[in-house]
Amino acid sequence: MDEHMLFSTALGLEKPWKVVEIEFSKDKGRLDLTIDFQRGATFPCSSCEEGNCPVHDTKDRTWRHLNFFQYETYLHARVPRIKCKACGIKQVEVPWARPGSGFTLLFEMLVLQLCREMSVAGVGELVGEHANRIWRILEHYVERARRNVDLSFFHILGIDEFSVRKGHNYMTSFSDIDASRVLFVAESRRKEVVSKFTEDMRQRGYDPEQIDLICCDMWDAYLNGIRNHLPQASVVFDRFHIMKQMNKAIEKVRWAEQKTNKDLKKTRFIWLKNPKNLTEKQKDKLSGLKKYDLKTARAYHIKLALARFWDIEDSEESEAYLKKWYFWATHSRLAPVIEAARCIKNYWQGVINYTKSRITNGVVEGLNSKIKTAMKRAYGFKQTQYLKTIVYLVVGKLCFE
Ligand SMILES: [Zn+2]
Repeated sequence: MDEHMLFSTALGLEKPWKVVEIEFSKDKGRLDLTIDFQRGATFPCSSCEEGNCPVHDTKDRTWRHLNFFQYETYLHARVPRIKCKACGIKQVEVPWARPGSGFTLLFEMLVLQLCREMSVAGVGELVGEHANRIWRILEHYVERARRNVDLSFFHILGIDEFSVRKGHNYMTSFSDIDASRVLFVAESRRKEVVSKFTEDMRQRGYDPEQIDLICCDMWDAYLNGIRNHLPQASVVFDRFHIMKQMNKAIEKVRWAEQKTNKDLKKTRFIWLKNPKNLTEKQKDKLSGLKKYDLKTARAYHIKLALARFWDIEDSEESEAYLKKWYFWATHSRLAPVIEAARCIKNYWQGVINYTKSRITNGVVEGLNSKIKTAMKRAYGFKQTQYLKTIVYLVVGKLCFE
């Protein structure tokens, strides 16, 4: 086997394509392979059944391929246009790259795999390509893979906000809770995001009416959108979002109290964390603080009592429990806690619905932290289109082939 044949085989080339020239430059650090088709070769038409169309003309093209060890590798070929009897002049599709791309399929697959594990900027640096070119590869494959996702069994929708930069610029994710995958990302958290999601679902050929349960935050914009566009579904507020309200209340109480009590400084996470996740040192600190008659400690006990609501399996019992808790919380004389309790009261049915639906909040929390990971992969880029793409790539459970 001569070296031309060897490279043809390595590239998986089939007739009429073969490697005809190999140029290796140690100084430039690159390998250039020229591919050509046999004289007199015919090609199938890309639009019809015709299999043997003669070449009309050709155009020189170059593609970046996987590195050959440390050497950047490029493929060159004259790509023919053929003359089909039925369709006229048509572009031939080459087997090693998709139409319009300056990279081979193998190079693009490498980029996709790398971007699942590292930042897009990092991948660009590693392979020596401008990050915008990396984003274009991602966008193409992500969009194509999204269209192939099977939504036949999708019926529990999760809606959640996430911040793009700390504190501002919120986006909204729409997820299939059972499959634990993000289906759609909208650019804000206003009420029209719900209709954008239902539109996307219809475009994929599915009926939004198949959704019977929605798990979301106590956020009026979402609830308005749901009322208008997904009226058949019942809404459930999950533990994660309700506890988030309660944790905000504790933080407000502690913040005010630490102005007169220095012991409370730097104790934020002790009050917010689940007790079983505290370190030994944090546990000691907490039991020390609980001895004093602190407002923060009172708020903390009310939070722990609220958390027990989710352990009650009987739905009548759990509603009675929540009523008792509400009475206690609203008589706590702690304004932020009263405010959180009233918020829960406003959305009572959605809170109670939990006991009937038993949505596992682990999924919602899990998706949330994966979205945070995705945002890190897009570090340095603000374009919303890019942010959507990276969330789909990291949390979309997409299948590339
Ligand atoms: Zn044709």
